[in-house]
Formats: sequence, C-alpha cells, structure tokens
Amino acid sequence: MKLLVLSDIHANLPALEKVESFALQADRIICLGDIVGYNAFPNECIGWLQDHEAECVKGNHDQAALDAKAEWFNDAAAQAIKWTQKELTPKSRQFLNDLPLQIRVEEKEITLLALHGSPRDPLHEYVFPDDQVQVPEGVDILALGHTHLPFIRKVEPKNAKKNANGQDSKKTGKNKDPADKSQKSAPSVKTVTIFNPGSVGQPRDGDPRLSFAWVQLPQMSVQIKRLEYPVGQTAAANQKAGLPQRFSQRLFEGT
Ligand SMILES: [Zn+2]
Repeated sequence: MKLLVLSDIHANLPALEKVESFALQADRIICLGDIVGYNAFPNECIGWLQDHEAECVKGNHDQAALDAKAEWFNDAAAQAIKWTQKELTPKSRQFLNDLPLQIRVEEKEITLLALHGSPRDPLHEYVFPDDQVQVPEGVDILALGHTHLPFIRKVEPKNAKKNANGQDSKKTGKNKDPADKSQKSAPSVKTVTIFNPGSVGQPRDGDPRLSFAWVQLPQMSVQIKRLEYPVGQTAAANQKAGLPQRFSQRLFEGT
C-alpha cells in the first residue's frame, strides 16, 4: 500500500497542487491537519483534499478557524485566523468540523497512527525531532505534524518483542542509522517508526521547498520528499488578500 502523507498545508494551494503526481500514484492520502491558516487558499485546499479523497485529521489552526477564539496565537497568526474564519464557506466549515483527531491505517499487521500534535494531546502538543514520545500500544508507525520540521526516527520500545527468528531485535544490527531517510525495516523487527513529513504550505527547516512523506506498507518504508513550488504565487495571493506580510516572507526563507 502506497501512502502519500501530507501535513500543515496551511491554505497554500500552489504548493499543494505540486504533489498531484504523487497523489495519483497513492493508494491512500493522509493529511495530518492544519489545512488552513497563514495563507490565502483555505477553501481551495479543502476542495483539493475532497477531490482526491484524502483522509484528514484536525489541527490546531483548523480548530481555531472554527472556534472564533484565537487568543493563544500571536497577533499576526490571530489576524490570519480571523481572515480565514470570514473566508470559509459553510461547506468548508462543516468539513473542518467533522475531522477526527486521529486516523489508523492497518495493512497486514502493521498499524500506522496519524495525528497532528502528540498522542496525548493531538491538537496542541509539539513533538520536535529529538523529543521523547509515548507511542500507543500496537502502533508500528506514528505520523505527526504540527512542528513543520521533517524527521524520521526509529525507536525500540522498552518491551521490545523478539522477532520471528527468535532474535532480540537489538542484535539484528538493522535500522541503526538515523541519518538514512529511506531505510526499510522488516515487519518482524519490532522497532517503531516515528516521522513528521514536514510542511507542504510553510516549511520551517530553512529549506523553502514543500515537504511530504511517501510511505509503503507493510514494508514500513518512509521517505521524506521535497519539491519546489511557485512561492511568488502564494505570496501575491496573500498580499491581495491583505494577509500579514511576514507569512509571505517566511515562505521564501523556509522559516
Ligand atoms: Zn501548522
């Protein structure tokens, strides 16, 4: 099963449209939330996700766009949320309102859990690349968004099970290189993969190219991919909409 995993699209349609060829090859498209906020195309991005039958979870910006209470955002982010609230159609509001907080994908005894923040606080808690995170029992791959920072990490649960050959998974020597972003692991080795696909619509790791993940199950292969997109188109639309200038500036910088 081929999965296209997207996160933090943030109403950036020119970026989202660039993943089209991957969307057409994917068996399922999973979106880890924050579809709206910051940029000028909230309804169009929701429409794209619906057209492509993407399965989405809710992010904190999606919730804020529904709540009309954006106090925990800084001034510019709150301004963008207020603009988004006015812009959303009733159908888009309904779509955001109906989003679940998590999605499970099961394929041949491999379980992938998808959510925006962390398992204990799916809407708000950040899991940065080096943070510890409690992976729920039975989950083999945890897919997270929210920080806009792509990473792939393998962890061995404390109660690591023996694999099918009776070896302790620690002694197999597999999956030791965290720098190899395209590594694969046999399903019988009970390591857990935690990854963040990075952000489609507002990358923050210093690389302005959009970021997403290509996942294959049950092989547990996870790859982060980057693509260029016409940042100027998004910036121009943001300016026309009267959205804060700094959100456009950071797109060029990838910050
Ligand atoms: Zn976000």
